[in-house]
Amino acid sequence: MEEIVQIRKIIHVDMDAFYASVEQLDNPELLGKPIAVGGSKERGVVAAASYEARKYKIKSAMPSIIAARLCPHLIFVKPRFERYKEISVKIREIFSRYTDLIEPLSLDEAYLDVTSNKKNEFFATQIAMDIRRDIKEELNLTASAGVSFNKFLAKIASDENKPDGLTVITPELAPDYIDSLPIERFFGIGKVTASKMYQHGIFTGKQLKTKGLDYLTQNFGKAGQHYYDIVRLNDNRSVNPNRIRKSIGVEHTYFKDIYDLRIINDKLDDLSEELARRMNKASAKGKTITVKIKYNDFTQVTRSNTFKYFVSLKDNLKDAWRLILKEEFELEKPVRLLGLSVSNLKRNEVEVKENPQLRLKF
Ligand SMILES: [Mg+2]
Repeated sequence: MEEIVQIRKIIHVDMDAFYASVEQLDNPELLGKPIAVGGSKERGVVAAASYEARKYKIKSAMPSIIAARLCPHLIFVKPRFERYKEISVKIREIFSRYTDLIEPLSLDEAYLDVTSNKKNEFFATQIAMDIRRDIKEELNLTASAGVSFNKFLAKIASDENKPDGLTVITPELAPDYIDSLPIERFFGIGKVTASKMYQHGIFTGKQLKTKGLDYLTQNFGKAGQHYYDIVRLNDNRSVNPNRIRKSIGVEHTYFKDIYDLRIINDKLDDLSEELARRMNKASAKGKTITVKIKYNDFTQVTRSNTFKYFVSLKDNLKDAWRLILKEEFELEKPVRLLGLSVSNLKRNEVEVKENPQLRLKF
């Protein structure tokens, strides 16, 4: 029997430099200037950079010290997450005029399924144009949108003409588009995986497609199946308005192996701060914290603990990993990768104050 597959019409909407744009909107003195949202102090990290700052190669997650070196007149602005959330609600209200199938990925990004929609509009591209217009007119902010028939392509498309761009990848255009796509632009392929793919002679989608499933899983583990599928445009994930992510995690492969426990301490604290930012962006808290350590011989240990209370604040995350590792961890071998993740998540629909008293004793 032949399987009937409904072609979906999916839009991925992504606000342009969201936090930085909101700061420029609320304080016109910042318009046209290179700004970084985030702490300027020694341990600070850039949470978002305006397009003027990006010209200096400043990116989110970059240590503030480095950002200030790249652009000495960079203006640091303290983040105001309450304000970003407030605008995020308004953006979602605009989406809901067109469809109820909205899957937010963070405060400034969402998938929309508009296959059938509240305006009875046939063309998804028209809806994307209307949404971008509404956001511009009502909020005075710009969004970029990608339109396609699966999530993977819609997300890549929204990134194609940023800022203030609209890109459509039709089923006819998709095969050529994916063939010529540089491997590092595939969503889900980070720097480390990309450089590994280069070593395997894979630089574009076309080259990725020549590799068989066995080859990809042998060399890239579980993700191999995913790479195999996406390059063949097999992505049937539906837009799920009730989706709650299973986990949020950060990890880092270090340029040089780490031999020193004190440095590992510092690195795990850095990861805690980055993880806290990600969780804040996703409006999530979680109960289970997992620490991952990979040694330079590629053996790996993970240790986790499920706490009684939800955790998301950086100080609580710092206490949590210390508690998890306190008995277990001895530095037997040099470390090449550290990771920290939170699962057992819930989304903060209503802001619940996290008890700072949760700070753990040991
Ligand atoms: Mg964005």
